[in-house]
Amino acid sequence: MADRDGFIWFDGKLVPWREATTHVLTHTLHYGLGVFEGVRAYETAEGPAIFRLQDHTDRLFRSAHILGIDMPFDKAALNAAHLDVVRANKLKSCYFRPMAFYGSGKLGVAPPKGDVHVIVAAWEWGAYLGEEGMNRGIRVKTSSFARHHVNITMCKAKANGNYMNSILANNEAISNGYDEALLLDVDGYVAEGSGENVFIVRKGKLYTPDLTSALEGITRDTVVTIAGEMGLQLVEKRITRDEVYSADEAFFTGTAAEITPIRELDGRQIGAGSRGPVTTEIQSRYFACVKGQDASHREWLTLVK
Ligand code: PMP
Repeated sequence: MADRDGFIWFDGKLVPWREATTHVLTHTLHYGLGVFEGVRAYETAEGPAIFRLQDHTDRLFRSAHILGIDMPFDKAALNAAHLDVVRANKLKSCYFRPMAFYGSGKLGVAPPKGDVHVIVAAWEWGAYLGEEGMNRGIRVKTSSFARHHVNITMCKAKANGNYMNSILANNEAISNGYDEALLLDVDGYVAEGSGENVFIVRKGKLYTPDLTSALEGITRDTVVTIAGEMGLQLVEKRITRDEVYSADEAFFTGTAAEITPIRELDGRQIGAGSRGPVTTEIQSRYFACVKGQDASHREWLTLVK
Protein backbone atom coordinates (compact mmCIF):
# COMPACT_ATOMS: atom_id res chain seq x y z
CA MET A 1 0.00 0.00 0.00
CA ALA A 2 2.90 2.37 0.70
CA ASP A 3 4.22 2.50 -2.87
CA ARG A 4 1.57 4.44 -4.77
CA ASP A 5 1.03 7.74 -6.46
CA GLY A 6 -1.42 10.16 -4.87
CA PHE A 7 -1.82 12.14 -1.66
CA ILE A 8 -2.70 11.49 1.96
CA TRP A 9 -4.00 14.20 4.27
CA PHE A 10 -1.52 14.21 7.17
CA ASP A 11 -1.83 16.71 10.03
CA GLY A 12 -3.54 19.31 7.91
CA LYS A 13 -1.51 18.98 4.69
CA LEU A 14 -1.80 16.88 1.55
CA VAL A 15 1.42 14.85 1.57
CA PRO A 16 2.65 12.71 -1.37
CA TRP A 17 1.57 9.09 -0.69
CA ARG A 18 5.12 7.67 -0.41
CA GLU A 19 6.17 10.42 2.03
CA ALA A 20 3.28 9.90 4.47
CA THR A 21 5.46 7.99 6.96
CA THR A 22 6.10 7.94 10.70
CA HIS A 23 8.94 6.87 13.05
CA VAL A 24 9.39 3.25 14.29
CA LEU A 25 9.06 4.52 17.89
CA THR A 26 5.52 5.74 17.20
CA HIS A 27 3.59 5.03 20.42
CA THR A 28 0.49 3.62 18.68
CA LEU A 29 2.63 1.13 16.76
CA HIS A 30 3.86 -0.28 20.09
CA TYR A 31 0.71 -0.25 22.22
CA GLY A 32 -2.25 0.08 19.83
CA LEU A 33 -3.87 3.16 21.36
CA GLY A 34 -5.34 4.99 18.41
CA VAL A 35 -8.75 5.45 16.81
CA PHE A 36 -9.86 5.10 13.25
CA GLU A 37 -12.81 4.98 10.90
CA GLY A 38 -13.75 3.25 7.66
CA VAL A 39 -15.81 5.46 5.37
CA ARG A 40 -16.90 5.05 1.76
CA ALA A 41 -17.71 7.35 -1.13
CA TYR A 42 -19.75 6.12 -4.07
CA GLU A 43 -20.12 7.34 -7.60
CA THR A 44 -23.45 9.13 -8.06
CA ALA A 45 -25.04 11.00 -10.98
CA GLU A 46 -23.69 14.22 -9.40
CA GLY A 47 -20.14 12.95 -8.83
CA PRO A 48 -18.59 11.20 -5.83
CA ALA A 49 -20.64 11.32 -2.62
CA ILE A 50 -19.40 10.39 0.85
CA PHE A 51 -21.89 8.28 2.76
CA ARG A 52 -22.81 9.45 6.27
CA LEU A 53 -19.56 11.40 6.67
CA GLN A 54 -20.74 13.39 9.69
CA ASP A 55 -21.78 10.19 11.50
CA HIS A 56 -18.34 8.66 10.89
CA THR A 57 -16.57 11.82 12.04
CA ASP A 58 -18.78 11.95 15.12
CA ARG A 59 -17.90 8.32 15.93
CA LEU A 60 -14.17 9.03 15.44
CA PHE A 61 -14.38 11.85 17.97
CA ARG A 62 -16.47 9.71 20.34
CA SER A 63 -13.84 6.95 20.12
CA ALA A 64 -11.12 9.51 20.91
CA HIS A 65 -13.16 10.85 23.84
CA ILE A 66 -13.67 7.34 25.27
CA LEU A 67 -9.92 6.67 25.11
CA GLY A 68 -8.91 10.11 26.36
CA ILE A 69 -7.21 11.16 23.12
CA ASP A 70 -7.27 14.93 22.53
CA MET A 71 -8.00 15.49 18.85
CA PRO A 72 -5.77 18.24 17.44
CA PHE A 73 -8.29 19.12 14.69
CA ASP A 74 -11.99 19.85 14.86
CA LYS A 75 -14.74 17.91 13.11
CA ALA A 76 -15.09 20.46 10.31
CA ALA A 77 -11.39 20.08 9.45
CA LEU A 78 -11.72 16.29 9.39
CA ASN A 79 -14.78 16.45 7.14
CA ALA A 80 -12.98 18.83 4.78
CA ALA A 81 -9.95 16.49 4.71
CA HIS A 82 -12.16 13.75 3.24
CA LEU A 83 -13.24 16.05 0.41
CA ASP A 84 -9.62 17.11 -0.16
CA VAL A 85 -8.33 13.54 -0.59
CA VAL A 86 -11.09 12.63 -3.06
CA ARG A 87 -10.21 15.67 -5.17
CA ALA A 88 -6.42 15.31 -4.84
CA ASN A 89 -6.53 11.65 -5.85
CA LYS A 90 -9.20 12.21 -8.52
CA LEU A 91 -11.32 9.37 -7.11
CA LYS A 92 -14.82 8.53 -8.32
CA SER A 93 -15.52 6.10 -5.49
CA CYS A 94 -13.28 5.08 -2.59
CA TYR A 95 -12.75 3.75 0.89
CA PHE A 96 -11.35 6.25 3.43
CA ARG A 97 -9.15 5.54 6.39
CA PRO A 98 -9.13 8.42 8.89
CA MET A 99 -6.98 7.66 11.92
CA ALA A 100 -5.68 9.49 14.98
CA PHE A 101 -2.55 8.12 16.62
CA TYR A 102 0.11 9.05 19.14
CA GLY A 103 3.55 10.03 17.83
CA SER A 104 7.03 9.08 18.99
CA GLY A 105 7.32 11.79 21.69
CA LYS A 106 7.99 9.14 24.35
CA LEU A 107 7.52 5.44 24.96
CA GLY A 108 6.13 3.71 28.03
CA VAL A 109 2.49 2.85 28.56
CA ALA A 110 1.42 6.45 29.34
CA PRO A 111 0.97 8.05 25.91
CA PRO A 112 2.73 11.26 24.86
CA LYS A 113 -0.18 13.63 25.50
CA GLY A 114 -0.32 16.41 22.94
CA ASP A 115 1.59 14.32 20.38
CA VAL A 116 -1.49 13.21 18.42
CA HIS A 117 -1.40 12.96 14.64
CA VAL A 118 -4.25 12.55 12.20
CA ILE A 119 -4.36 11.10 8.70
CA VAL A 120 -7.07 10.64 6.10
CA ALA A 121 -6.14 8.26 3.26
CA ALA A 122 -8.43 7.14 0.42
CA TRP A 123 -8.18 4.53 -2.31
CA GLU A 124 -10.42 2.46 -4.56
CA TRP A 125 -11.70 -0.68 -2.84
CA GLY A 126 -14.33 -3.11 -4.14
CA ALA A 127 -16.52 -5.60 -2.23
CA TYR A 128 -14.72 -6.40 1.06
CA LEU A 129 -15.97 -9.99 1.24
CA GLY A 130 -15.93 -10.51 -2.54
CA GLU A 131 -18.44 -9.89 -5.34
CA GLU A 132 -19.51 -13.53 -5.26
CA GLY A 133 -20.20 -13.31 -1.53
CA MET A 134 -22.45 -10.28 -2.11
CA ASN A 135 -24.60 -12.35 -4.48
CA ARG A 136 -24.40 -15.89 -3.14
CA GLY A 137 -23.68 -15.30 0.53
CA ILE A 138 -20.59 -16.22 2.54
CA ARG A 139 -19.63 -19.12 4.80
CA VAL A 140 -19.02 -18.13 8.41
CA LYS A 141 -17.49 -19.84 11.45
CA THR A 142 -18.25 -19.14 15.08
CA SER A 143 -14.97 -17.98 16.56
CA SER A 144 -13.18 -19.63 19.45
CA PHE A 145 -12.12 -16.08 20.40
CA ALA A 146 -14.73 -14.16 22.42
CA ARG A 147 -15.52 -10.54 21.56
CA HIS A 148 -14.05 -7.99 23.95
CA HIS A 149 -15.66 -7.69 27.34
CA VAL A 150 -17.04 -4.22 28.03
CA ASN A 151 -14.57 -3.71 30.87
CA ILE A 152 -11.48 -5.02 29.10
CA THR A 153 -11.40 -2.76 26.08
CA MET A 154 -13.97 -0.18 25.24
CA CYS A 155 -16.31 -1.80 22.70
CA LYS A 156 -17.88 1.53 21.64
CA ALA A 157 -14.51 2.90 20.56
CA LYS A 158 -13.25 1.97 17.11
CA ALA A 159 -9.78 1.59 18.55
CA ASN A 160 -6.73 0.25 16.71
CA GLY A 161 -5.85 -2.24 19.45
CA ASN A 162 -9.36 -3.74 19.47
CA TYR A 163 -8.61 -5.20 16.05
CA MET A 164 -6.11 -7.73 17.34
CA ASN A 165 -9.18 -9.64 18.53
CA SER A 166 -10.77 -9.25 15.07
CA ILE A 167 -7.60 -10.46 13.34
CA LEU A 168 -7.35 -13.56 15.55
CA ALA A 169 -10.97 -14.45 14.79
CA ASN A 170 -10.74 -13.70 11.06
CA ASN A 171 -7.45 -15.65 10.67
CA GLU A 172 -8.98 -18.65 12.42
CA ALA A 173 -12.04 -18.60 10.14
CA ILE A 174 -10.01 -18.17 6.94
CA SER A 175 -7.48 -20.87 7.86
CA ASN A 176 -10.38 -23.26 8.45
CA GLY A 177 -11.72 -22.57 4.96
CA TYR A 178 -14.46 -20.05 5.89
CA ASP A 179 -14.91 -16.49 4.65
CA GLU A 180 -15.44 -14.68 7.97
CA ALA A 181 -15.81 -15.18 11.72
CA LEU A 182 -18.80 -14.64 13.99
CA LEU A 183 -17.72 -13.63 17.49
CA LEU A 184 -19.74 -14.37 20.60
CA ASP A 185 -19.61 -12.21 23.70
CA VAL A 186 -18.07 -13.54 26.93
CA ASP A 187 -21.49 -14.92 27.95
CA GLY A 188 -21.76 -16.90 24.71
CA TYR A 189 -24.28 -14.70 22.88
CA VAL A 190 -23.79 -13.50 19.32
CA ALA A 191 -21.94 -10.17 19.22
CA GLU A 192 -20.70 -9.34 15.70
CA GLY A 193 -18.34 -10.26 12.88
CA SER A 194 -14.65 -9.32 12.89
CA GLY A 195 -15.56 -6.08 11.10
CA GLU A 196 -19.34 -6.23 10.76
CA ASN A 197 -22.61 -6.16 12.69
CA VAL A 198 -24.96 -9.09 12.17
CA PHE A 199 -28.69 -9.50 11.50
CA ILE A 200 -30.94 -12.54 11.15
CA VAL A 201 -34.41 -12.87 9.62
CA ARG A 202 -36.96 -15.28 11.04
CA LYS A 203 -40.62 -15.51 10.05
CA GLY A 204 -40.53 -12.08 8.45
CA LYS A 205 -38.97 -10.32 11.49
CA LEU A 206 -35.49 -8.87 11.67
CA TYR A 207 -33.30 -9.51 14.73
CA THR A 208 -29.94 -8.03 15.68
CA PRO A 209 -27.90 -8.24 18.91
CA ASP A 210 -28.07 -5.25 21.22
CA LEU A 211 -24.93 -3.14 21.28
CA THR A 212 -23.46 -4.19 24.63
CA SER A 213 -20.26 -5.60 23.17
CA ALA A 214 -20.61 -4.73 19.48
CA LEU A 215 -19.57 -1.60 17.65
CA GLU A 216 -22.34 0.91 17.05
CA GLY A 217 -22.30 0.34 13.29
CA ILE A 218 -23.40 3.10 10.96
CA THR A 219 -24.48 0.54 8.34
CA ARG A 220 -26.44 -1.22 11.09
CA ASP A 221 -28.20 2.07 11.79
CA THR A 222 -28.87 2.53 8.06
CA VAL A 223 -30.41 -0.96 7.91
CA VAL A 224 -32.58 -0.16 10.94
CA THR A 225 -33.95 2.87 9.03
CA ILE A 226 -34.43 0.85 5.83
CA ALA A 227 -36.20 -1.93 7.75
CA GLY A 228 -38.60 0.65 9.19
CA GLU A 229 -39.36 1.93 5.71
CA MET A 230 -40.00 -1.65 4.52
CA GLY A 231 -42.44 -2.14 7.40
CA LEU A 232 -40.25 -4.88 8.87
CA GLN A 233 -40.42 -5.42 12.59
CA LEU A 234 -36.98 -5.15 14.18
CA VAL A 235 -36.08 -6.80 17.49
CA GLU A 236 -32.83 -5.97 19.29
CA LYS A 237 -32.07 -8.76 21.72
CA ARG A 238 -29.56 -11.34 22.85
CA ILE A 239 -29.16 -13.91 20.08
CA THR A 240 -27.75 -17.42 20.42
CA ARG A 241 -25.74 -19.23 17.77
CA ASP A 242 -28.48 -21.84 17.33
CA GLU A 243 -30.92 -19.04 16.53
CA VAL A 244 -28.58 -18.16 13.67
CA TYR A 245 -28.43 -21.82 12.59
CA SER A 246 -32.23 -21.89 12.37
CA ALA A 247 -32.78 -18.44 10.86
CA ASP A 248 -34.43 -18.03 7.45
CA GLU A 249 -31.74 -15.53 6.43
CA ALA A 250 -28.69 -13.85 7.93
CA PHE A 251 -26.40 -11.05 6.82
CA PHE A 252 -23.47 -8.90 7.91
CA THR A 253 -23.44 -5.10 7.71
CA GLY A 254 -20.45 -2.76 7.59
CA THR A 255 -19.04 0.14 5.64
CA ALA A 256 -16.48 -2.17 4.02
CA ALA A 257 -18.71 -5.30 3.93
CA GLU A 258 -21.85 -3.29 2.95
CA ILE A 259 -24.71 -5.83 3.11
CA THR A 260 -23.17 -9.30 2.81
CA PRO A 261 -25.51 -12.31 2.98
CA ILE A 262 -24.45 -15.28 5.16
CA ARG A 263 -25.36 -18.61 3.66
CA GLU A 264 -23.79 -20.94 6.21
CA LEU A 265 -22.67 -20.90 9.85
CA ASP A 266 -20.47 -23.72 11.23
CA GLY A 267 -21.40 -26.06 8.37
CA ARG A 268 -25.16 -25.50 8.86
CA GLN A 269 -26.98 -24.07 5.87
CA ILE A 270 -28.99 -20.96 6.75
CA GLY A 271 -32.47 -20.92 5.19
CA ALA A 272 -32.28 -21.84 1.50
CA GLY A 273 -28.47 -21.50 1.57
CA SER A 274 -28.41 -18.46 -0.69
CA ARG A 275 -29.19 -14.73 -0.50
CA GLY A 276 -32.77 -14.55 0.80
CA PRO A 277 -35.54 -12.17 -0.34
CA VAL A 278 -35.38 -9.84 2.69
CA THR A 279 -31.59 -9.55 2.43
CA THR A 280 -31.89 -8.90 -1.32
CA GLU A 281 -34.40 -6.09 -0.75
CA ILE A 282 -32.33 -4.48 2.04
CA GLN A 283 -29.18 -4.77 -0.08
CA SER A 284 -30.80 -3.10 -3.08
CA ARG A 285 -32.29 -0.29 -0.95
CA TYR A 286 -28.88 0.22 0.69
CA PHE A 287 -27.11 0.56 -2.66
CA ALA A 288 -29.82 2.94 -3.86
CA CYS A 289 -29.14 5.13 -0.80
CA VAL A 290 -25.34 5.17 -1.11
CA LYS A 291 -25.45 5.79 -4.86
CA GLY A 292 -27.84 8.73 -4.52
CA GLN A 293 -30.72 6.90 -6.24
CA ASP A 294 -33.04 7.20 -3.26
CA ALA A 295 -34.24 10.80 -3.11
CA SER A 296 -35.51 10.36 0.46
CA HIS A 297 -32.01 9.94 1.91
CA ARG A 298 -30.05 12.79 0.40
CA GLU A 299 -29.15 13.93 3.92
CA TRP A 300 -26.77 10.96 4.19
CA LEU A 301 -24.67 12.12 1.22
CA THR A 302 -21.87 14.67 1.11
CA LEU A 303 -21.25 15.51 -2.53
CA VAL A 304 -17.67 16.17 -3.55
CA LYS A 305 -17.81 18.99 -6.05
N1 PMP B 1 -18.21 -4.09 14.03
C1 PMP B 1 -16.88 -3.98 13.86
C2 PMP B 1 -15.99 -4.70 14.80
C3 PMP B 1 -16.36 -3.21 12.80
O1 PMP B 1 -15.04 -3.12 12.63
C4 PMP B 1 -17.25 -2.57 11.92
C5 PMP B 1 -16.70 -1.75 10.79
N2 PMP B 1 -16.50 -0.42 11.16
C6 PMP B 1 -18.63 -2.71 12.14
C7 PMP B 1 -19.07 -3.48 13.20
C8 PMP B 1 -19.62 -2.04 11.25
O2 PMP B 1 -19.58 -0.64 11.44
P1 PMP B 1 -19.96 0.37 10.27
O3 PMP B 1 -21.25 -0.10 9.70
O4 PMP B 1 -20.07 1.68 10.94
O5 PMP B 1 -18.86 0.31 9.28
